[in-house]
Amino acid sequence: MKTLLAAILLFSTFSMAAVTKEPFGKTSDGRQVYLYTMKNNSGMEVAITNFGATIVSLKVPDRQGKFADVVLGFDNVSGYESKADPYFGATIGRYANRIAKGRFTLDGRQYQLAINNPPNSLHGGAIGFDKRVWTVEEGDSNSQHLSLHYLSPDGEENYPGNLSVSVTFTLTDANELKIEYAATTDRDTVINLTNHSYFNLYGQGEGDILSHVLTLFADKFTPVDLTLIPTGELRSVGTPTRIPAKSPDAAAHAITPFDFRRPAAIGARVNDYDEQLKFGRGYDHNWVVNGNMGELRQAARVVEPRSGRQMDVLTTEPGIQFYCGNFLDGTVKGKGGKVYKHRYGFSLETQHFPDSPNHPSFPTTELKARRQFRSTTVYRFSVAKGH
Ligand code: BGC
Repeated sequence: MKTLLAAILLFSTFSMAAVTKEPFGKTSDGRQVYLYTMKNNSGMEVAITNFGATIVSLKVPDRQGKFADVVLGFDNVSGYESKADPYFGATIGRYANRIAKGRFTLDGRQYQLAINNPPNSLHGGAIGFDKRVWTVEEGDSNSQHLSLHYLSPDGEENYPGNLSVSVTFTLTDANELKIEYAATTDRDTVINLTNHSYFNLYGQGEGDILSHVLTLFADKFTPVDLTLIPTGELRSVGTPTRIPAKSPDAAAHAITPFDFRRPAAIGARVNDYDEQLKFGRGYDHNWVVNGNMGELRQAARVVEPRSGRQMDVLTTEPGIQFYCGNFLDGTVKGKGGKVYKHRYGFSLETQHFPDSPNHPSFPTTELKARRQFRSTTVYRFSVAKGH
């Protein structure tokens, strides 16, 4: 009897953990893509498509055990293929965020990338990794991980080197989504990979994210110019930026809007007068994560007070881009017909700093031929204490 029970338990554990695969539509050039769903033993569920190695949905419990989908996205591949897609949930590469004027020099040669975010190149150029069909390593049906692979040919989007990239998503029973990136190249190149999920911990499409409470484990950030390119400075989040001396806000700016070392609502200071916030139309900046890059350490925590949902972000990367959905404007209709209005989602993109190839003082994004690139990020979900 005991053995039978154990066998049933074992079986149900394994069958719950299997990765399911279903069609997710065809690309405009007729390629079938799929949606892969993984579920852990506490019911958390993540769905990923091999179009762009994209997180399509992420269902996590609130303090009552009620599940909600906490990422923005589309119901099928055509949404992700459309021009309206602001990189929802996608794997971004070959270079996440901006490269000034799309130009950099490597091994004495100058490279010119597509200017898809004038006057700069953004998120890998005209057709980034987010718009590519990835190969899935199948056959691992009793697991809670999914590995996707993409070979970016030499010269694609004008980047040098055949770059072989893999992204592995693991859903742990501790309600963590772990993302591991690995890449190798046959010629020196530059690389910066991230995931561009837009979160709303109350539930996707259910209002703006301004009351979410954010902590960033960062004493510094990289201020930008008006085209969102870092100036090169690493500025203390405690140093007020330029404020008109007579501004009524001057006192409030003793704590700058960039100081999230103590938990603060995203909306508390997002509309303050601040030159940096003006450039990004809100938060759209890279913070320098405290501690040693290469070590998995905490970069951010977000709490949604009504549901109690909490998300911790851990990473081996040196930086994290906090973007609060400033460019969402209600023109995008997403999953279940939800309309995504201004600041309905935020991103916490772990990364190397934007425009690093043009800033020798930043941690390097150069990947030498035959060397391996590796990086890990964990999004851990729980319920906040005291909420
Ligand atoms: C960038 C934003 C951009 C957004 C969507 C973020 O990573 O920093 O400026 O609007 O991605 O493309």
